[in-house]
Amino acid sequence: MSDTQLPLEIKRRRTFAIISHPDAGKTTITEKLLLFGNAIQMAGTVKGKKGSRAATSDWMSMEQQRGISITTSVMQFPYNERMVNLLDTPGHEDFSEDTYRTLTAVDSCLMVIDGAKGVEDRTIKLMEVCRLRDTPIFTFINKMDREVRDHIEVLDEIEDILKIQCAPITWPVGMGKNFKGIYNLYTDTIHLYTQGQGHTIPDDIQVKGLDSAEAREKLGEDLVDELLEEIELVRGASHEFDVEAFLAGKMTPVFFGTALGNFGVREMLDYFVDWAPAPQNRDTQDRTVPADESKFSGFVFKIQANMDPKHRDRIAFMRVCSGKYTKGMKMRHVRIGKDIKIADAVTFLAGDRSQVEEAVSGDIIGLHNHGTIQIGDTFTMGEEMRFTGIPHFAPELFKRVRLKDPLKLKQLQKGLQQLSEEGATQLFMPVNNNDLILGAVGVLQFDVVMHRLKEEYKVECIYEPITVQTARWVDCTDAKKLEEFKRKCADNLAIDGGGYLTYLAPTRVNLSLAQERYPEVEFRATREH
Ligand code: GDP
Repeated sequence: MSDTQLPLEIKRRRTFAIISHPDAGKTTITEKLLLFGNAIQMAGTVKGKKGSRAATSDWMSMEQQRGISITTSVMQFPYNERMVNLLDTPGHEDFSEDTYRTLTAVDSCLMVIDGAKGVEDRTIKLMEVCRLRDTPIFTFINKMDREVRDHIEVLDEIEDILKIQCAPITWPVGMGKNFKGIYNLYTDTIHLYTQGQGHTIPDDIQVKGLDSAEAREKLGEDLVDELLEEIELVRGASHEFDVEAFLAGKMTPVFFGTALGNFGVREMLDYFVDWAPAPQNRDTQDRTVPADESKFSGFVFKIQANMDPKHRDRIAFMRVCSGKYTKGMKMRHVRIGKDIKIADAVTFLAGDRSQVEEAVSGDIIGLHNHGTIQIGDTFTMGEEMRFTGIPHFAPELFKRVRLKDPLKLKQLQKGLQQLSEEGATQLFMPVNNNDLILGAVGVLQFDVVMHRLKEEYKVECIYEPITVQTARWVDCTDAKKLEEFKRKCADNLAIDGGGYLTYLAPTRVNLSLAQERYPEVEFRATREH
């Protein structure tokens, strides 16, 4: 790729992630997207079979069983004139802080909602993370081949709970057994659904005009009349699509369909590659880096250990933020102040782990990491800058760690310190006692840490329950007030793995009370690396 091609290559990137509650259909829709991107011959190969997907939370066997899913951390595929990067957001037992951090590395998200269930808790949490950057959101309401809820009610729920305006682009024609297709409100076109095309690229059978003789013939008079009435209602009750509002994260275009039946997905994808933003500019502590700047830069948002039994190493996932990576280039690891040569970055094109020759702004590359790379690390062409906006997220699960062999305290502390720096877990040391408390966003993180402590640091530990419900990073500009707060709340305070003061709240109520009592103190749910 020549330097003159670079801006065009960057502009055609679309880097996104899917946010959804477990079982809404993320995996299924991913398979269909890959099918349209010709990234897999036959849909249905993204994840192991349902039954094998971790009925156990034992990490190692999970890793083995999930084999394929792990190599789908990043999936790159071409579609129309675009190059799409889809970043996996672990969602089941493997839900973790990585899921949140991945959302800091994308330019847009696709929200998948189960049409029968509406807005569910995991989606609420993930949307909160998207809010931090006002990430533009596409919405796909899935499972139209089932008896689902009233669609207008679901849109209202999205608007009320997720605080984002809905602009339906397509609308379903019937549902469940009577699901006939989707109607595009903007082109006045019906796309007819044919069953049994789940694993192939379906034909696109169109009928122009809802109020047309052809529509009446194909769908029947009654259904068309019903739909005409419904569409009028929908137009009145919803917002008209506005691309600026979408790009500002205030409005979401909404599409309907069935991922399993592979219908409505392509209609959504066509708009997605068009409307979703190209790589966005990124802030560093000192300046904003334009995505099309020719000098290479990037940051690490995720570290994955022992990904593949055949490659027993850790991979640091880097989002390229400007310029281009070429095989064998030297880059500055800013935090440690060293230039390092990267000869063997990996990518996951079409589900295979392969070496990249080139990657541009918007792409993700994997760096082999032997312990020198941490979450949030910036890489540049020599410039001393650090990307911001790759925070730690307040954990919601806590456990006290106890050693089986008390003599190994030093190793345990070292291990926990390193694993927390790497981002596998968060460590909290209460100011008033010698406990070691681990915090996590997903329950599997605890298993991973226990396993890695044993394998990599030769310490065996056990977990004990502890009554901490959430954590907040605290700060106060008024030194006197801070001292008073520290004195009075000492029992709830801890120092985290990065040396920051943290408030460990036994209950949500306790947290609210503390916030009320100390209005000068800031309680933050995220902390920058
Ligand atoms: P994930 O947990 O979000 O990745 O969800 P999956 O893609 O694994 O889907 C969860 C379940 O819903 C699976 O049994 C799918 O076959 C099923 N499913 C997904 N999409 C549809 C759909 O459009 N219609 C129906 N009827 N089932 C679906």
